[in-house]
Amino acid sequence: KAQRSGRNTWTTYDQAMELGLMQEIALGADLQEAILTNKLELYYQPQAQITTGQVTGVEALLRWKHPVYGEIPPACFVPLAERSGFANRLTEWVLQHACRQGKKWLDDGLRFGRIAVNISANCFVGGWLNQAVTRVLADVGLDPQFLELEITENIEVAGVAGVREMLAALRRSGITIAFDDFGIGYSSFKYIKLFPLDTVKIDRLFVADVTHNVSSRAIVQAVIRLAADLGLRTVAEGVETGEQLRFLQAAGCDSYQGYLLSPPAPVHDVAVLLCRHSG
Ligand code: C2E
Ligand code: MG
Ligand code: MG
Ligand code: MG
Repeated sequence: KAQRSGRNTWTTYDQAMELGLMQEIALGADLQEAILTNKLELYYQPQAQITTGQVTGVEALLRWKHPVYGEIPPACFVPLAERSGFANRLTEWVLQHACRQGKKWLDDGLRFGRIAVNISANCFVGGWLNQAVTRVLADVGLDPQFLELEITENIEVAGVAGVREMLAALRRSGITIAFDDFGIGYSSFKYIKLFPLDTVKIDRLFVADVTHNVSSRAIVQAVIRLAADLGLRTVAEGVETGEQLRFLQAAGCDSYQGYLLSPPAPVHDVAVLLCRHSG
């Protein structure tokens, strides 16, 4: 959707217009530089089983401290990488570092369930993702059973049939697939039908007011029931209060993730938490 801007120039992307085209290009170059020179960092956020508190997974979340602008949120620079055509390189960096961390935790005797990595939709194009995952796991020496990939509904851009085949192959190797931000997209239910999945992550939009909003309560309960009927695991995102946790527990949700358990944290802090859980 091209639009005419005030200064008589044409740009293709709304968000590029928000940033300003020159800034978009400069920031994209800085990000590519940060990938090459390992200036990015991964924070990790644990998720735990609601009934037992056992850690079932740890989600890797990118952090970038820009030398001039300071911390830039991933919700800003990940889409920038996708628009600029280097989502693959960014994703491979994350896969490599997250898997290496998982291997190290295992070697240290720490239990974390699975490492969860967020995957950009572009990574499905041309079968790239499966090749990259295979390469990284072999390279690092991590068993596929310790990896979960988080996808969102925009994977449709890579073509339904191809994506379905790729997900099936990944699952055959022992990797699990989580559908991220479930419920906020246009067609979450279509995707649950179309794609082979293991986990549904209920978006924190619904979790946020689940204790005092009738609609959110009904939606969360319905999603948990639906997932159970389909044999899928549910993870509630953004759990901040004990009241929310108790509601989710009563509703039969499997796992939770959120500030109540732990915010995304640097490796060292997460290791301390895993240590307490691995005894
Ligand atoms: P996401 O995958 O849905 O990640 C969850 C986001 O919710 C994270 O934001 C996390 O910090 C935040 N969060 C967790 N618990 C709570 C809570 O209790 N309350 C609130 N208010 N927020 C909570 P973050 O780290 O800023 O990441 C934002 C998004 O950026 C992610 O959403 C994901 O879509 C994307 N992202 C982050 N890292 C990567 C990556 O390595 N690759 C890709 N493709 N996307 C990434
Ligand atoms: Mg995620
Ligand atoms: Mg999410
Ligand atoms: Mg989200």
